[in-house]
Amino acid sequence: THFGFQNVAESMKESKVRDVFNSVAKNYDTMNDVMSFGIHRIWKDQFVRQLNPGKKSIFSEPMTILDLAGGTGDIAFRMLNHARTVNGDPETRVKVVDINEEMLKEGMRRAHALGYRTEGDDAPISFLVQNGETLEAIPDNSIDLLTIAFGIRNFTNKEKALSTAHRVLKKGGVFSCLEFSKVDNFVLDQIYRRYSFSVIPMMGQLIAGDRDSYQYLVESIVKFPSQKDFAGMIRDAGFQLAGKGWQDLTFGVAAIHTGAGD
Ligand code: SAM
Repeated sequence: THFGFQNVAESMKESKVRDVFNSVAKNYDTMNDVMSFGIHRIWKDQFVRQLNPGKKSIFSEPMTILDLAGGTGDIAFRMLNHARTVNGDPETRVKVVDINEEMLKEGMRRAHALGYRTEGDDAPISFLVQNGETLEAIPDNSIDLLTIAFGIRNFTNKEKALSTAHRVLKKGGVFSCLEFSKVDNFVLDQIYRRYSFSVIPMMGQLIAGDRDSYQYLVESIVKFPSQKDFAGMIRDAGFQLAGKGWQDLTFGVAAIHTGAGD
């Protein structure tokens, strides 16, 4: 049937995503640098700086952050560093959740190298294998800030992931998503597309010996909804958007979408 066929395609997609990230876990930073000319580091810094994680007064509870599709911990380490150095708060905790154990193992190695404890309820950073579409192990209304960077594009059911994010966030909690997006200028878009489709898979082959994974990543960026459509999906999941709901980075090569749980 049509639905049977669709299910096969969907499950193929999930295993394909797993393969891609298994094969890139080790040289993941290189991949990001190739894809964005190193700009992903600046975008991630801006993302975290704007969210300003950490306890803002001596009376408030420490924040619980969930970094979904958190991979090797790039966002989580920035969150902890910001909470400590900018807000003087060593108690904020980050749960790094990802479907891929290899990415999390790499993240855990990094955490230990930085001197962070990863076990126990009060560990500053912990790693959990979960499908972000369901987050079975995360209770309702338990998270203050839920972030997802360069992750949702790979999810099979993005609507389900957004409504799950809404379920686990506390009332008034913040959802924020950093993702590749649509370039808002015809000429720049043509140049960007040409670069994406020819240069990135070739560099993937040369640098990581893996053309297919890079080709998949380029295609997943093209298929992802526009800023406006994605903002609509976030609203439909139950979030309140601030203003139009997103902010472009580097002419829309990436965008940050933000909503509040209610
Ligand atoms: N957030 C990290 C960063 O910015 O460096 C990692 C981003 S990486 C491009 C995408 C991640 O999404 C991978 O680690 C992959 O395993 C994860 N992912 C894909 N589908 C997922 C799902 N359904 N649930 C949880 N994680 C998923």
